Amino acid sequence: MTNTVVAVDGPAGSGKSSVSKAAAKRLGFAFLDTGAAYRALAWHVLDSNADPEQATEVISSLAGFDYAIGTDPDGYAVHVAGTDVTDSIREPRVSAAVSAVARVPEVRNHLTALFRSIIRDSDKAGIIVEGRDITTVVAPDATARILLTASEEARMSRRSAELVTESASDVAIALQKRDRADSRVVDFMTAADGVVTVDSTHLNFDETVDAVLDVIRTSQET
Ligand code: C5P
Repeated sequence: MTNTVVAVDGPAGSGKSSVSKAAAKRLGFAFLDTGAAYRALAWHVLDSNADPEQATEVISSLAGFDYAIGTDPDGYAVHVAGTDVTDSIREPRVSAAVSAVARVPEVRNHLTALFRSIIRDSDKAGIIVEGRDITTVVAPDATARILLTASEEARMSRRSAELVTESASDVAIALQKRDRADSRVVDFMTAADGVVTVDSTHLNFDETVDAVLDVIRTSQET
């Protein structure tokens, strides 16, 4: 039974994955990247030659979605039906398909139930769960709830530095398109009541991790 649950939401390129993972390592907590689950389903839909834009085809793919994700921040891997998809779920074709898959209510309900069971079954002292709707839907009762933001400019430049195979303008266009599509489904740009905003625009990586750790420590004291 996990004691401390930390919910971290934010837009693409806010650094929430790498920051959450580093904070989990520092605290000896488990780490759950919920975006990876949505990406794995998008990968599975494409792999089954289904159309991600067709909700009925996405729902059919959900039935055969044999998914496993690690929660160890040091050895994190994603598998679909035994295939290691840790790297392939980051491909641009998957990023382009994921928003359509994630807007299907049946998908969200299915994955939310899965995330809650992973949180419940984790045997570490705590777990950091990151995504878009963790503070509001998946774990609204979390010990600490954080919205990690950064200016659009900072997010674009961080993401294009990560994706060296694509041009900066392609990355910016794809990211804006995905944020627009995603924000029609979940509001991850404004903090809900009780959610602490950490703006990383002018912080480096270590400073952002420290800011997140401060929020977690403060919430554990109250
Ligand atoms: O976090 P990441 O950018 O990898 O997320 C991939 C996609 O998964 C998002 O663009 C969004 O469509 C979806 N997602 C979601 N809810 C979450 C996490 C991710 O809809 N909690």
